[in-house]
Amino acid sequence: MARLDPHSYTDSSHPLAKHVALTLYFDFAANTIHGSALLTLPSAHTGHLLLDTRSLLVHSVIDPVSGAPIPFSFPSSDDPVFGRPLSLSLSAQSAALIVFCTSPSSSALQWLSPAQTASKAYPFVYTQCQSIHARSIFPCQDTPAARLTFSARLNLPSPLTAVMAAARAADTRDPIAGEAGPACSDALWCSPGRAVEEFVMDRPIPTYLFAFAAGCIASRDVGPRTRVHAEGGLVLLDAAAREFAGAEDMIRAGEALFGPYEWGRFDLLVLPPSFPYGGMENPMMVFLTPTVIKGDASGAQVVAHELAHSWTGNLITNKTNEHFWLNEGFTTYAERRIVEVVQGEERAVLNTGIGWKGLNEEMERFADNMEFTKLKPNLEGIDPDEVYSQVPYEKGFQFLWRIERQIGRLAFDVFVKKYIATFKFQSIDTETFLEFLKVNVPGIENQIDLKLWVEGTGIPPDAMEPVSTIYSKIVSLANEFKQGKIPKEEEVADWSGQEWELYIENLPKSVEASQVASLDARYQLAESRDYEVKVAFLQLAVSSGCKEYHGEVESTLKQVGRMKYLRPLYTALVHGTGDEEKMLARRIFAEARDSYHPIAQGVVQSILAKHS
Ligand SMILES: [Zn+2]
Repeated sequence: MARLDPHSYTDSSHPLAKHVALTLYFDFAANTIHGSALLTLPSAHTGHLLLDTRSLLVHSVIDPVSGAPIPFSFPSSDDPVFGRPLSLSLSAQSAALIVFCTSPSSSALQWLSPAQTASKAYPFVYTQCQSIHARSIFPCQDTPAARLTFSARLNLPSPLTAVMAAARAADTRDPIAGEAGPACSDALWCSPGRAVEEFVMDRPIPTYLFAFAAGCIASRDVGPRTRVHAEGGLVLLDAAAREFAGAEDMIRAGEALFGPYEWGRFDLLVLPPSFPYGGMENPMMVFLTPTVIKGDASGAQVVAHELAHSWTGNLITNKTNEHFWLNEGFTTYAERRIVEVVQGEERAVLNTGIGWKGLNEEMERFADNMEFTKLKPNLEGIDPDEVYSQVPYEKGFQFLWRIERQIGRLAFDVFVKKYIATFKFQSIDTETFLEFLKVNVPGIENQIDLKLWVEGTGIPPDAMEPVSTIYSKIVSLANEFKQGKIPKEEEVADWSGQEWELYIENLPKSVEASQVASLDARYQLAESRDYEVKVAFLQLAVSSGCKEYHGEVESTLKQVGRMKYLRPLYTALVHGTGDEEKMLARRIFAEARDSYHPIAQGVVQSILAKHS
């Protein structure tokens, strides 16, 4: 056998499923889902078929035509990161019905008790499948190299409702006896107070884009193809609707740059604060952290990023996580082009500047393991969540920006449109991109050291820090801070969150405690409503040994579960000046752990373990 992907048990000699029909019964009391997955192959197959699973209990596998059992086994033991392969023994069969249930430890699912939600009255559950967590919801070929369509029938307790990154196929209805098949007994499926919702995704997607949420969800239209959904009360929905009112303008900007929007709807779901990412580009319905709602439309940049994935990532997908830059580097580039159109060039430059700083910091983080500073790293045996970084985003962005500078924006825009039209609905690798580049931009390999960019470590010499008056002013003010100078009120009068973020990120890693206190006394950064600013400041405060901010750090770590904030704050604490900070980190994690998504729990645990 040969693996198709270092992060999946999918065998390259086996057929790839083209459709899965899911039947899912949600048991909120037990934090589990009883389900069945009917997998359809492109043609009849004889022999083994390996699927990925993790934290799943497989009850039976059935031939849906004859009703006969299909033999199955687990040929190797459980790996904590990759799970264990489920092997089906098929004989001239083109479909298999797998009956299974998830477990409370299924890493893609976060189950929130009513107390952990904004509604306070109803439980909530949501998924996060990237990178390799779909296998903890249903057995599948969990590699982005494989794309499939799906249909899903969800059985929930009323009055909870579900949303999916898919099209709604029917109105909410009563359950029908017999329709669940072996997934669940009729006694459960048709028990009082249950309702069924149905969805369909008719465009082939990789499994990491499979997504749903269920709970008390309110909704409002904000554009012709955009509806905002939010867990909990109307207050959040109002704020979200205001923040994302410009969605349609962005979609139009994206279409002008990258070609038609192929997914129909572009809905937005605002999740509880435990959502581990800023946003997740689930097709037709982007998932978002509530921390992007800042009241000044700056959260629109995260939306621009997730929207850009509609072309780069969701239409053209990296074949494996080793080519993740094809998703994120392209999307970071596309995001900044959209921001430039809808918010102006200065915003896009500041965004690039923050990214440049972030990329340079990753070089320090991976100083002992420069493999992960490569655009195309070797990730054999590596948990993608563990090495998640800004490198594929920002080095990928820099690579594309470098090509743009070489051939000019007009020519590059033509190239990108052709690239998207050529590879849409395919999963490709870096080599495919490079071949396409060389064919369409003859001689590019003599002008840019493509090999150095793709295979080299560190930041290539022809990468570039952005240039703009505001950007340079902020960086020079940050440099003056080292001489003890705090910016004057008139110098920061028109700063928004991004300017502050850039300023703080450009300060030295640790400064005199008294300087931190005077900066905060003048500008109240620790209490900023903008988490980017607040967390950047608190990170500086902890690294500078300012113990008076420990309370604010603790409450922040207990309010949000976004890994962008958890990582730097926990890291600053464990690198702290004394044992006090390390103990604080451990205590906060012990108390806050249950409020984090399982993916974030794993990431914090590994930060603490490295410094125990
Ligand atoms: Zn992204």
